[in-house]
Amino acid sequence: MGERPVIVVLLGPPGAGKGTQGERLACRMALDHVSTGDLFRDAVTAGSPAGLRAESYLLSGQLVPDQVVLQVIEEYMGDARRRDICFDGFPRTRNQAEKLDDLLRQFNLSVTAAVYIDVPDHIALRRLLGRGRADDTEETARHRLQVYHQDTEPLIDYYRKAGVLIEVDGIGGVESVARRVWTTLKAVIR
Ligand code: AMP
Repeated sequence: MGERPVIVVLLGPPGAGKGTQGERLACRMALDHVSTGDLFRDAVTAGSPAGLRAESYLLSGQLVPDQVVLQVIEEYMGDARRRDICFDGFPRTRNQAEKLDDLLRQFNLSVTAAVYIDVPDHIALRRLLGRGRADDTEETARHRLQVYHQDTEPLIDYYRKAGVLIEVDGIGGVESVARRVWTTLKAVIR
């Protein structure tokens, strides 16, 4: 990688494939894959203070309060200057997106690309229900999609206005979506 760190943000509903695509992309581009969902699930398992605060939100499919999320992100980032990062599941609110911009600005950085993986609700729901995670019951999955539309979807416009949005059709197999993500992204990076 060159001198300027690459910061990728993955957007899209739960069930869009952000985790799977994030892992592949991170591997391919040597980025750190940072999934806030994974960080919270680990924190819950470990019974850490952040985990204790986050657990009920995870189980009910609500968003963890921004303050808790941002604390976890700040801790994780530490010294971001040397790192190329792929954020998965963060930011999820406009406030989080603004705070991420502030944080990156301190390091003289900005989001390089926001990759929006577009899948319709019925496909997202089908994928969520096939996954079997604790927060993937039908009721919770539907609620998470609602929360996504209300709080997270506006970020598509936020990043479009910032001129860094990349839209990718998320329908299809893992391989074909990965190919789309990669071809569109490599065209804009460096
Ligand atoms: P995910 O693995 O990205 O689907 O996230 C699982 C759950 O973790 C979400 O339903 C939220 O409860 C919580 N979570 C993960 N990332 C965030 C975030 N950036 N803001 C708020 N809550 C989050």
